[in-house]
Amino acid sequence: MSINEVPYKIYLTEEEMPKAWYNLRSAMKTKPAPLLNPGTGQPMKAEELAPVFCEELIKQELDNDTEYFPIPDEILSFYKMYRPSPLVRAYFLEQALGTPAKIYYKFEGNNTSGSHKLNSAVAQAYYAKKQGLKGVTTETGAGQWGTALSMACSFFGLDCKVYMVKVSYEQKPFRREVMRTYGADVTPSPSMNTAIGRKILEMHPGTTGSLGCAISEAVEVATSTPGYRYVLGSVLNQVLLHQSIIGLETEAALKKYNITPDIIIGCAGGGSNLGGLIAPFMRDKLQGKSDVRIIAVEPASCPSLTRGVYAYDFCDTGMVCPLAKMYTLGSNYIPAPNHAGGLRYHGMSSILSELYDEGYMEAVSAVQTDVFKAAEQFARVEGILPAPESSHAIKVAIDEALKCKETGEAKTIVFGLTGTGYFDLVAYQNFHDGVMTDYIPTDEEIAASVSTLPAVK
Ligand SMILES: *Cc1c(COP(=O)(O)O)cnc(C)c1O
Repeated sequence: MSINEVPYKIYLTEEEMPKAWYNLRSAMKTKPAPLLNPGTGQPMKAEELAPVFCEELIKQELDNDTEYFPIPDEILSFYKMYRPSPLVRAYFLEQALGTPAKIYYKFEGNNTSGSHKLNSAVAQAYYAKKQGLKGVTTETGAGQWGTALSMACSFFGLDCKVYMVKVSYEQKPFRREVMRTYGADVTPSPSMNTAIGRKILEMHPGTTGSLGCAISEAVEVATSTPGYRYVLGSVLNQVLLHQSIIGLETEAALKKYNITPDIIIGCAGGGSNLGGLIAPFMRDKLQGKSDVRIIAVEPASCPSLTRGVYAYDFCDTGMVCPLAKMYTLGSNYIPAPNHAGGLRYHGMSSILSELYDEGYMEAVSAVQTDVFKAAEQFARVEGILPAPESSHAIKVAIDEALKCKETGEAKTIVFGLTGTGYFDLVAYQNFHDGVMTDYIPTDEEIAASVSTLPAVK
């Protein structure tokens, strides 16, 4: 297809920008299962969540019915610093693949945090400030969420304490320095600062940490420090709500050129970028107006959708958080240390889990050497150095485009390019040096990990 059938980058004007977030739950017949109190087994009430989360965010978390949440002006203004993000027609990738498919990607890496996470970070920091809090605590894995949150907190004048998964803290010292530039206090997890950190270190000396463990530490600090609450960068309903900005912009950009996607692809860690990207498209699918295929891509080393079980589980290793019903590998699951590609969370958004369970969404897994091959191929033709997480989506977009080459179908493929990979160069180095390995857990390992799920009727 000739260059400039549509612009290489499709932008929206300020007027065309979405002014409200879309709540996908409002379109679901079967709502995602509620969070449960681990003590009573009953759905968590707002007042039980209040010591942990900000009030306004709890309302968003528990609201399955409101369709649109107006975006407060302060957040709309902040969004203007880096949004709209471009929807890019991947002409050069199409050419390189020799495919009749039309490939588009929504690029969320155009901000200093380098990922889509800023979309929710700014919302969460705003509501914390509005509530009069002093600060927030959080965990970060690869560091994108911590960076995004520290940017948002410095903008609103909030203190920010970040518990960073130890393996990333050590492998990504530059991330840490970006967070410190924005004023955040960064601690490697597990740490000796918290009771749960000390316990985990005693049980697993030398552990490289996990997101689940860092979450437990951040929650402990939030609930034991006056004026602090905990915020989370993925998994929760509220985060998918904020990330709907990605999908709404994508929908508006496609509509400008009368483009209807056949396949939408996104990488899935906790599910926030994918849940956000697909929100309006899944709504149409749920309402019978569209038969778009939606594909979640996860790492073969942390395959919650493709090999996990759909059950209530703890959101964190320390088992201090509410129970969520989700596709999970068990809250003790820790991906092999050679896993460099992010997307390390043991569970998956309850919204996406329910949609996947009902068959509205597909899921595939990819091994990391294939993911980095796709990343390199993409970087060389489209110019952007992709994050390893995003490259899971690239890998499957390329696979689907190559299938179109075989069948001669000119399908329209849209994928989420969630971020850039400048802080992942140790992983790129391992890939280039040929020392990157793939690790696929055995059925026994997964069975052992899911055997620790809490008993919930
Ligand atoms: C955090 C992150 C992801 C995965 O998180 P989700 O909540 O599943 O979206 C994907 N890509 C990048 C660049 C990230 O920073």
